[in-house]
Amino acid sequence: MGLQRWVLREQPELPPGSSPQGERDWGEGEGGSANIPALPDVTTLDWDALQQRVAQCQHCGELATTRTQTVFGVGNHQAEWMLIGEAPGGEEDQQGEPFVGPAGQLLNAMLAAVGLQRQQVYIANVLKCRPPNNRDPHVDEVAACLPYLHRQIALIQPKIILLVGRVAAQQMLGSDANLGKLRGQVHHYHDRIPMVVTYHPAYLLRKPSEKRKSWDDLCLARAQLDPS
Ligand code: SF4
Repeated sequence: MGLQRWVLREQPELPPGSSPQGERDWGEGEGGSANIPALPDVTTLDWDALQQRVAQCQHCGELATTRTQTVFGVGNHQAEWMLIGEAPGGEEDQQGEPFVGPAGQLLNAMLAAVGLQRQQVYIANVLKCRPPNNRDPHVDEVAACLPYLHRQIALIQPKIILLVGRVAAQQMLGSDANLGKLRGQVHHYHDRIPMVVTYHPAYLLRKPSEKRKSWDDLCLARAQLDPS
């Protein structure tokens, strides 16, 4: 069980330098577009109002004009598991759903290994719009967009949050430590909801030898729901 199932039937060929399914190497301190003001308050919005607000959001001028559509999130609004990734990639921008394509298929297989179907969990990204040409998102774009994610978490009230990839982990944990240092331990969102860090599936497609560590991460996350 587990590792053996995390194999795609067809391993995709990734073009050199491509950044599939939203995984990017967000350089620390990179970016720095013109300052983006804070979003209007979203803390009282319900699901429909929040989704509508995101769909119409023009806050980051460049992203709003270059995206195909916003990628709000998908899944069960009463999910115990919430997965948080980084930003939409090209396929996600086209389909309007996070974690699609080969990395999404691998994520689905990872979930299945711990007995979860994709539709049982909720999946969202830190950033709701795809940065053009897969450029690194700017720090202020991430900061501007985070209130939407925090509202999604407040609405779902998940029992466990899985932070998928370095950037999601760093943003949610307020840390600039590398992923290796952030995984393997249990963090907490607002001192309450456990959070576990794991590798982005796009990274695992390139480096399958790390799947065992990801399996350990999933087991650690699952143990927070069932400590026995
Ligand atoms: S990234 Fe977020 S804050 Fe920026 S335009 Fe898109 S939805 Fe709005």
